[in-house]
Amino acid sequence: MILIKNCEVYSPGYLGIKDVLVGERSILGLADNISIPVGWEVEVIDGKGLKMIPGLIDAHVHIAGAGGEGGPGTRTPEIQLSHMLEAGVTTVIGCLGTDGMTRSLEAVLMKAKALRQEGVSAWIYTGSYQVPTPTILGDVGKDIAMIEEVIGAGEIAISDHRSSFPTLPELVRLAQHARVGGMLGGKAGIVNIHMGDAKDPFRPLYDAVEASELRLTQFLPTHCNRNHHIFEDAKEYGKKGYVDITSSSYPYYPDEEVKPSAAIAGLVRAGVPLEHITMTSDACGSLPDFDEKGNLRRLEMGTPRSLFDEMVDTVQKEGLPLEDALKVVTSNVADILKLNRKGRIQKGRDADLVLIDGDFRIIHMLANGSPMVRDGKMLKKGSYER
Ligand SMILES: [Zn+2]
Repeated sequence: MILIKNCEVYSPGYLGIKDVLVGERSILGLADNISIPVGWEVEVIDGKGLKMIPGLIDAHVHIAGAGGEGGPGTRTPEIQLSHMLEAGVTTVIGCLGTDGMTRSLEAVLMKAKALRQEGVSAWIYTGSYQVPTPTILGDVGKDIAMIEEVIGAGEIAISDHRSSFPTLPELVRLAQHARVGGMLGGKAGIVNIHMGDAKDPFRPLYDAVEASELRLTQFLPTHCNRNHHIFEDAKEYGKKGYVDITSSSYPYYPDEEVKPSAAIAGLVRAGVPLEHITMTSDACGSLPDFDEKGNLRRLEMGTPRSLFDEMVDTVQKEGLPLEDALKVVTSNVADILKLNRKGRIQKGRDADLVLIDGDFRIIHMLANGSPMVRDGKMLKKGSYER
């Protein structure tokens, strides 16, 4: 067991200075003062001067690699455990992406299992940009109902030149199957939607809801800050549905995209309920860096660290309270995706805990109760990391 003493706990709501007792995978106790009975073997961590926050949930990561849109040489590699740990991320949701043609869901599923073995938590979306979308068992509903790691469908592309431009009945049927699969499997059954650059980008989702019994909250559209016109539309869409902000691409396209932290603050100011807003990194997506003449300078890859940095900027540059900035990357995501043991520091939940200092440096970190970072040093690495 591990006892963390005297830290300021953000659950993400502010709870004050507390002691937190961790055993097995879970939070066993959370109180003003926890004392240990004589004879118990407990490791004590001094949390004085530190803030404890829930491990971040990064709910859109190409964990088994992605990219390839500039030819085979632009395919990105799989995520490494250290990419998650340096970002305070203890849970990822993996997805396929643009390449549902030469990459497989089986590889994404096995990578999620690998990350679990390395100590963090991972689930996946079934499907890819394309519709009809690839699946493992032949139907998105079957995958969600029967495969434990599958919690929804995605990322399904709409309003994008790389999408299959699903017809209205195709989109409705896919979302319906995801919904019923979610009911049967006790999952969220949400459909994660890749939003492209087309005008009136949310139209296919409004149409799908009008033409069916579906609700807008069946969908989780991402990249809602990818350009200024989608962001303006997201301010209205977000009042009824969920909006996901992408964090890793902004530094490469600062003129086109809305800075993620500013996007979160802007949505809140526009009256979008905070509970409707999430942020994900889109890590392992390829990010080509072009010079002024449009020549490819180098290929970069998104990382989850952008998620942590933008969460910090939401506080430091945009002035939102830390607890609000945290909700966007912890409890909101857990609630929308029905990850009932994740996203909150609460007795009985999984012990995914990050301790940060006044400068937002990660000092200690536990994933599922196991120490991953101690005194600022990473204790664990991925199986093939040196
Ligand atoms: Zn995407």
